[in-house]
Amino acid sequence: MKVLVPVKRVLDYNVKARVKADGTGVDLANVKMSMNPFDEIAVEEAIRLKEAGSAEEIVIVSVGPSQSQETIRTALAMGADRGILVQADGTVEPLAVAKILKAIVEAEAPGLVIMGKQAIDDDCNQTGQMLAALLGWSQGTFLKELQIKGEEAEVTREIDGGLETLSIALPAVVTADLRLNQPRYASLPNIMKAKKKPIETKTADDYGVDLTPRLEVVETREPAKRQAGVMVGSPAELVEKLKNEAGVL
Ligand code: AMP
Repeated sequence: MKVLVPVKRVLDYNVKARVKADGTGVDLANVKMSMNPFDEIAVEEAIRLKEAGSAEEIVIVSVGPSQSQETIRTALAMGADRGILVQADGTVEPLAVAKILKAIVEAEAPGLVIMGKQAIDDDCNQTGQMLAALLGWSQGTFLKELQIKGEEAEVTREIDGGLETLSIALPAVVTADLRLNQPRYASLPNIMKAKKKPIETKTADDYGVDLTPRLEVVETREPAKRQAGVMVGSPAELVEKLKNEAGVL
């Protein structure tokens, strides 16, 4: 089985996002960018399937600027086999990404697409669901566990207040949640090997997809500043403040 893993280049999760002066979005100039953390988990899961003999080939796809090649290389260094970069500058909304991925799925015929549950830049949590709908495939979202059992996948999902286990027919689209696995670090020899792995470069036009945004960002704001804390002199004073000032007791 071939496994397709879409990965997005996003603002590194350790970097504090700063809003552009004109409020049109987050300032990405000269800041560290990395693979979306949920996508690292998706790549790791694909590699584990390959190591277990359930997958033969892992293909990485990224839609984004030319630097997204580095993100694909990171996945290749972890253990994926080859990459496809769909070069696109500017905003690419989840529906456009899903349409591009659909065309790639039709060309590559994977048995499984493993993606992140959401990209931490826009927090959309839409692309996997949209791709499954466009393909008419089964979907398993927010995975905590994945097992391939012949023509089916058994997926354990993170749901409100617990876990849910479902059996879904393959081919399928599944999305990774935080507890699915702990992604590996690429070793130096694997980083060197990844430099020789092939990455094909395409454009949205190659797949007949129009990238014109359908959404308009009206405003982007910094979160409200946190109020300064207050030192209390005794437990009694704390209780008094919680009762009479905060009103939480
Ligand atoms: P989102 O729906 O934007 O929260 O993204 C969910 C998942 O879709 C991500 O974790 C990625 O696996 C995939 N994805 C979203 N945008 C892209 C992109 N530009 N290139 C490749 N994969 C993407």
